[in-house]
Amino acid sequence: MIDINNVSKWYGQFQVLTDCSTRINKGEVVVVCGPSGSGKSTLIKCVNGLEPFQSGTILVDGTSVGAPKTNLPKLRSRVGMVFQHFELFPHLSITENLCLAQMKVLGRNHEEAHNKGLQLLDRVGLKAHAEKFPGQLSGGQQQRVAIARALAMDPIAMLFDEPTSALDPEMINEVLDVMTQLAAEGMTMMCVTHEMGFARRVAHRVIFMDHGQIVEDAAKDEFFGSPRSERAQQFLSKIL
Ligand code: ATP
Ligand code: MG
Repeated sequence: MIDINNVSKWYGQFQVLTDCSTRINKGEVVVVCGPSGSGKSTLIKCVNGLEPFQSGTILVDGTSVGAPKTNLPKLRSRVGMVFQHFELFPHLSITENLCLAQMKVLGRNHEEAHNKGLQLLDRVGLKAHAEKFPGQLSGGQQQRVAIARALAMDPIAMLFDEPTSALDPEMINEVLDVMTQLAAEGMTMMCVTHEMGFARRVAHRVIFMDHGQIVEDAAKDEFFGSPRSERAQQFLSKIL
């Protein structure tokens, strides 16, 4: 589903990704962790073409992300992305936030988009808030709206970049619960997160990055049971 092959990327002279390779199969949940600045966000942004890379290839469902001929907006519409900050449109109601891309990108009519939006709001437990504005919702609720908005595009995979790290502790679980549910339904997911409880419960695999390299790429039990690299051992001892 997502094939990352020998990807390297530089910002000027600074090499931010070095020869990264991994493969995420359909229905697989992969957690990406590692110290700050190790390249996690950069790698995930390369997957849906938000960041260019200079060498290697990334295929998403067979489409080459970096190829000049690839229709990136179309590809992006099929790969949901949820960031740390929810980036909802503050001047639009929750339902209008959910309708916008469905209508603009997928050409759905308003009724169709609205119905789909309501159905997804229900799924993330927020149907009662449909007519509110983002500023009237808590951070956790806004993040669930952001997930519903991504799902409204019928994505073939979902990318998450620290979706809970800007949230107050009591709101973290409501977002992780939605992600857990998605995983249980078989969504292909690549999640940058430091929530190791979530990784333990939900991930199939864990990727550990350091200095722009994938240092460890292991089945969950293997990763938590006996991380091979000293760097991953240190990281785990600090955050567990
Ligand atoms: P964090 O856990 O803090 O989110 P990260 O693992 O997501 O870190 P990245 O944001 O991918 O790390 O950044 C990797 C490296 O690339 C860092 O050293 C960062 O300073 C650098 N970097 C990121 N974006 C740019 C940019 N636009 N220009 C130059 N350097 C950048
Ligand atoms: Mg990051």
